[in-house]
Order: sequence, then C-alpha cells, then structure tokens
Amino acid sequence: MQTNASPNASADSAAPAASANATGTPGATDTIANAAPPVGGQIVRPAARAAGAPAAPEQVRRAPKVSLHDHLDGGLRPGTVAELAAEIGYADRLPTTDPEELGRWFRDAADSGSLERYLEGFAHTCAVMQTREGLIRVAAEAVEDLAADGVVYGELRYAPEQHLERGLSLTEVIEAVNEGCRLGERRAAEAGRRIRVGVLASAMRQAKRSREIAELADAYRERGVVGFDIAGPENGFPPALHQEAFDFLRFNGDHITIHAGEAYGLPSIREALHRCHAERIGHGAAIVEDITPIGEGGAEGYRLGRVASWVRDSRTCLELCPTSNLQTGVCSSYAEHPLGLLASLGFRVTVNTDNRLMSGTSLSEEFIHMVAAFGWSLADIERMTVDAAESAFLPLDERRELIEEVIRPGFAALAD
Ligand SMILES: [Zn+2]
Repeated sequence: MQTNASPNASADSAAPAASANATGTPGATDTIANAAPPVGGQIVRPAARAAGAPAAPEQVRRAPKVSLHDHLDGGLRPGTVAELAAEIGYADRLPTTDPEELGRWFRDAADSGSLERYLEGFAHTCAVMQTREGLIRVAAEAVEDLAADGVVYGELRYAPEQHLERGLSLTEVIEAVNEGCRLGERRAAEAGRRIRVGVLASAMRQAKRSREIAELADAYRERGVVGFDIAGPENGFPPALHQEAFDFLRFNGDHITIHAGEAYGLPSIREALHRCHAERIGHGAAIVEDITPIGEGGAEGYRLGRVASWVRDSRTCLELCPTSNLQTGVCSSYAEHPLGLLASLGFRVTVNTDNRLMSGTSLSEEFIHMVAAFGWSLADIERMTVDAAESAFLPLDERRELIEEVIRPGFAALAD
C-alpha cells in the first residue's frame, strides 16, 4: 500500500491503458502511454519447493530477515503517535489517545474500505512527524522495532516533502531521519541485535517535487540515503510523469525502486522498468496479468508475456506486501496472494510489511501468513531472504558480507 493510495484500488479495477503508442517512444505523460506489450515469451513450470516442513512461527521470528519495503509514516508505535501529538498540541485531533485503541483504530481504518478513513491514518502519523525531535524518535523506534523482529538489514522509505509543515527544510528532515536511524542502530546494538538501515527518499507522484527530491537523494547517497522511490496514488500518476527525476538519478548511478502494479496494472510495471529505470518494483502484483496458465490450473506450465519474462530473466526484485495487498484488494485471501505462484515460478520475490501500523503487522507475521498459505520451509525463507539481500541497495561487498556473515549463519543456527 502506498501513502495516499486508494484502499480499494485493485489491479483489476485500473482504468484501461491509454491508446496505443505505435512507435513506443515516450509520449504524453498524463496517462501511461503504453500499448499492451506484445504477446510471446517463454513457458515455465513451477519448481519443486525446497525440502523441509513448514517453518514454525518461532523459527520465523528468530530468523535473520531483510526488509525492503517499509514506510516510515506507516510504522509508528501507537503510543508514540499519542505522545508526540500531546507534545505538539495535536492530541484533540486524534480519534483516541489510548495507545491500544489507537492501534486498533489505524488497523480498522486501513481495513474499512473507506478512502477517507484510510488517508486520515496517514494524516495523523505525518502530523506528528513535523519536528526534528519527532522525526528522530520515530526513525529510531522504527529501527529498534525492526531489530526486535529479527530484521538485520532494512530500508525505510518516506517522502521528505510531507514533513515541512512546521518549518523544517527538506535537508533538516533528511538529517533528522538519518540521525534517528543511527540512534536506533546503536540502541539495537546495545540490546544485542545487529541491524543496519538505509533510507529511501520518496517523492509524491501527485506532486511536482520529484526532481528536487532526486537531487537530495543523490546528494545524501554516502550519508544514509540509499535510493529513490515514488509513492502516492498510482492511477492517473504514471512513473513517466517524473521522467526527469529518474533520468537524473540513472545518469548519476543512483538506485531506483518504483511503486508499480499495485493499484494499476501491467503497463505501470512496464513503464517503471523500461522508461524509468526501476531496479526493483514496489509490489508489482499485477505481473500476474502477464502470466497465463496452460492446461487446467497450469498443469502444463505457464506462459509468460514479455514483461513477466523480462522481470524473471533479469532477476528484478518484486517487493510484495501480503497484508497490505489484501487491504487494497489485490487479492481476497492470503492463499490467493500472487507470492505463492511467483515464488514457485522462480521470480525474485520478497516479503515486506509496507505499513506495520496500518496493517497491524511485522515482517515475521507476514512470513507466518505465507507459511500458513503455502507451506514455506525455512529453506524457502532463507532463499527469499538471500534474494532480498542481493537486491538491497548496498555495494556488492556489503551485500556479500550480509549474506555470508549474517544471514547464512543465522539460518544455519536455526536448523540445528
Ligand atoms: Zn508502499
């Protein structure tokens, strides 16, 4: 789920793609100017899953995990929302100041199917993230909460432009969040947990600051910001609206992930990949529109269209978020979540939380839902965790170190 996204915008309900652009050249940017991609591509068969019994919930919680898609403004502790609101005179705007009731209210709002209630949740969290102290605290606690859940590497994303209401500048926002992340890492280390966190700077797709945010992401690349993203309503705001930002980042060798194929269909993924240089796709659930079963229930394999083929062949990481995807109507049960099929067909899929507060979840809980749905073993989860680490926006040596010195030994210890 994206900040300010529609809670009920299913992949199927997306408006039809804009008229065909026969030349394939970048065209109007107010709609996705892609025709449906040509059919064709390859036929693949589901692979046998890694051996082993379904992972036990306690093993999942203790396993070293990698989190690539987690919104800072979607993961506050309810008690922190209430306390920060009291400090800045916002408490009377909250539906309740009781932490337990407030936590329930956020989850219910995200489940309600009401766009107004859903957006109200993010309005409240952003409202209390407008001061340096508030941002430091929220970022530090996010890192501590990830570490307590067994996350060893995480990327937290947020849109700096949404935190300027009380006079902070964009650079002050970025520096406060970075300071909070370092504080959280130190506190986690003191508690005996090793975690490292990078930040993704998001630009809001319905706004016009993406070039500015891209330049900031680039400027802070060696200082905590590991990549760039666009978030917000997908339908009506295609990635190519921000072409200038993406071209700037690509030319400077910065990392890019793009929310696509969550509330809008396959054309959004295609544009994100092939025009806007996305290395990873936020959600990407709509990739299943490009996968056709052959025979009853895929008994004779699956035919991949060209977009799905490219995603699979290039090992492009899809950042899927099961509970959030359920809340936005991508699927109607965990058992129907595209993760099951995509994992079996060899796509590089990762499990993520999106908004821990609004979905009332953690990365462990998301994996536990997937184990219940698909019977994933510890070996399956280890493979996905290694894939997530390979897709992290870190230098090669650091990714290798993360895998060889943290993830592999962590899983080996669980199997003993
Ligand atoms: Zn998201």
